[in-house]
Amino acid sequence: SEGSSTCSEESFVKMPTIKFTKLFINGEFIDSVSGKTFETIDPRTGEVITRVAEGDKEDVDLAVKAARAAFDHGPWPRLPGAERGAIMLKFADLIDEHTEELAKLDTVDAGKLFSCGKAVDIPQVAQTLRYYAGAADKIHGEVLKMSRELQAYTLLEPIGVVGHIIPWNFPSTVLFAKIAPSFAAGCTMVVKPAEQSPLSALYYAHLAKLAGVPDGVLNVITGYGETAGAAITHHMDIDKVSFTGSSEVGREVMQAAAKSNLKEVSLELGGKSPLLIFDDADVDMAADLALLGILFNKGEICMASSRVFVQEGIYDELVKKLTEKAKDWVVGDPFDPNVRQGPQVDKTQYEKILTYIEHGKRQGATLLIGGKPVGKKGYFIEPTVFTDVKDDMLIATDEIFGPVMSLMKFKTIEEGIERANKTKYGLAAGIVTKNIDVANTVSRSIRAGTIWINCYFALSIDVPFGGYKMSGFGKDYGMQGLHKYLHTKSVVTPIYNSPW
Ligand code: NAD
Repeated sequence: SEGSSTCSEESFVKMPTIKFTKLFINGEFIDSVSGKTFETIDPRTGEVITRVAEGDKEDVDLAVKAARAAFDHGPWPRLPGAERGAIMLKFADLIDEHTEELAKLDTVDAGKLFSCGKAVDIPQVAQTLRYYAGAADKIHGEVLKMSRELQAYTLLEPIGVVGHIIPWNFPSTVLFAKIAPSFAAGCTMVVKPAEQSPLSALYYAHLAKLAGVPDGVLNVITGYGETAGAAITHHMDIDKVSFTGSSEVGREVMQAAAKSNLKEVSLELGGKSPLLIFDDADVDMAADLALLGILFNKGEICMASSRVFVQEGIYDELVKKLTEKAKDWVVGDPFDPNVRQGPQVDKTQYEKILTYIEHGKRQGATLLIGGKPVGKKGYFIEPTVFTDVKDDMLIATDEIFGPVMSLMKFKTIEEGIERANKTKYGLAAGIVTKNIDVANTVSRSIRAGTIWINCYFALSIDVPFGGYKMSGFGKDYGMQGLHKYLHTKSVVTPIYNSPW
């Protein structure tokens, strides 16, 4: 709504100092082989923040060489787990000391709320390191067989050189969901941050070096997906790629792995997650969760509750509450502590979202709230809610990745479950009800990797997160998030001089 927009350019906080803009290979910041650079843009204004080294295939080759040498001959995989853990703890402490600078970088690069970065994202990054640091000396296999003839046990070994490909919507937390467990496992790595948000990854590389992470263990190649990203996925000397991004690119990552060295792949992809609100729900709580579920991080979040199914008995009341509450949702400079929604990450994303809003209107949905850009500069969009949405409209089937909610009415639990499952995605789902039978039935019937009951976005470092269906496979976080960077080796030996 217009009342919620405070987007005057004068209020914009100035740019932080940018210290690191070069590639980080083998412990050094260096220019790209081609000498090329690219612009990274402030989505608040559309203006250039700085130019960053543009890595390509030759640079990825150098980074993989450094990571391979660090893996094959360096101390990192051979250190006792507790020593790797100690370095990770030091890295976490350094991140705590630099929280403000790091949060500022993600705010100017990706339009993320500074308050949230400072209070949630960056502290979570340090916690992720601490969680996996604690696991680094507890990586062990099993004794499998103790017969008279044979004994067997498993060794868990680091998978090798890992390529991590990162999206722009959570430049810090997604990066650490990947690098923290691979550090603990003893892997070495090449990271490619998204071209829209490369700055914090370079700062983290600097801190990693200060913490004592040996040269070659962590390499950061800034650059584009089709060039630097594809060079990682096609590389013959990378053992695994861990990718977070769109389902379209996820498909290309698998194809590249298949065409090159059959490297292992794990994919965290898109979503079109349902939130089901039942007749007995607390309307106030349900409206808050529905708004947060789609507007947090300006809707640029893979697990956004972009389809809200409301049971008919509570529908009218919910629509009223939602409309009232949306008025308090302030759009503007993400540095302003009163603002709840900053700009979309870039012009492409902004235009894509506005096009989907037009599809919604054209296909006959009713625009209840918002639907327009905010301000004259930058990439701000009003919180937007459509009602009268049909399951097959584009706004209900496609991942918009913006602040656009589709509200739908349902009658029975069975209908709610069936329609919630009618999607190619399966990342998350939310249920709002006080009835334990309903909560149990629905949570077991929805095909998605995370189900939130009477909450949303309740993520935790020790709880595995990842998709079903076309939302990908291979969980981040928890012990599963560590095990995906480990190989299992079976060792078998005869006990006596048996005829093996
Ligand atoms: P994207 O797929 O366009 O890009 C992600 C990363 O892949 C970027 O670093 C990009 O440079 C790189 N890339 C692009 N093309 C590539 C190629 N051909 N080969 C190798 N790398 C390539 O996605 P995005 O627009 O940055 O992020 C938005 C998407 O990410 C959404 O679909 C969202 O749902 C998804 N996402 C998922 C999760 C999750 O945990 N499931 C988390 C965050 C974002």
